[in-house]
Amino acid sequence: MRIILDGQQLPLTVRVSKDLLLTLKTIARTQNWRIHYNAADGVIHLSTASHPPVTDTHRQSLSAVEMDSTRLVGKVICIDPGHGGKDPGATGPAGTYEKDNTLAISLLLRERLERNGAKVYMTRETDQSVAHDSASQEAELEARIAIAKQAKADLFISIHNDGFISPTANGATTYHYGNPDSMRLAEIVQKQLIESLGVHDRGTRFASFFVVRYAPMPAILVEVAFISNPDEELLLASEDGRSRAAGGIFEGIVGYYRV
Ligand SMILES: [Zn+2]
Repeated sequence: MRIILDGQQLPLTVRVSKDLLLTLKTIARTQNWRIHYNAADGVIHLSTASHPPVTDTHRQSLSAVEMDSTRLVGKVICIDPGHGGKDPGATGPAGTYEKDNTLAISLLLRERLERNGAKVYMTRETDQSVAHDSASQEAELEARIAIAKQAKADLFISIHNDGFISPTANGATTYHYGNPDSMRLAEIVQKQLIESLGVHDRGTRFASFFVVRYAPMPAILVEVAFISNPDEELLLASEDGRSRAAGGIFEGIVGYYRV
């Protein structure tokens, strides 16, 4: 792994390490540096120059987003961060947990939705199970649906990470249970998620997952990326990746209400 700081290669020989990359990303965030990792050649580019000022065109596009998203005023949205508590979900090769990524992305999504006038209910807001700890998996999922029903939610959005035996499997998939509104929601969210996150598009698919099957409102389950893939594990654990995932899902929800 080579590190290039402001165009100069640092005189270091470092072992390729996910921990090092995560540490550098954290430093870059706190110092307001730009960081870019090219997985193909293993080079990390760091730039300490501050970000360019916000231009007028940027301001205009921000206000266009604000106008679009007034469509969310009064909408009730239930966000379901997958897993939690004693159930970590899938574990990545570097040891990160699906339950932490799903919660972080969900909290960022809640912030975006609330800022734009939606009423948001979360099935969990901390690292916990939703039903009691010794509940069966079905009772745990039923408890999540019960929250959406109680809230009379207009939409149910379940957030997960994919996992597979092969570390090369990658990309995002959005699942639905075949209801036309759920299918339309899945299509728009998937499109915006791919645009924002820049991962491989695995499309939308029908699945009989408990939460999308039994939610009485339009419901989708988003597999944001593969935690079993070393590069996507990093993306899912990074502030930037989580924020882009939440942003894409947010834009998809806005798009669903645009028609
Ligand atoms: Zn999961």
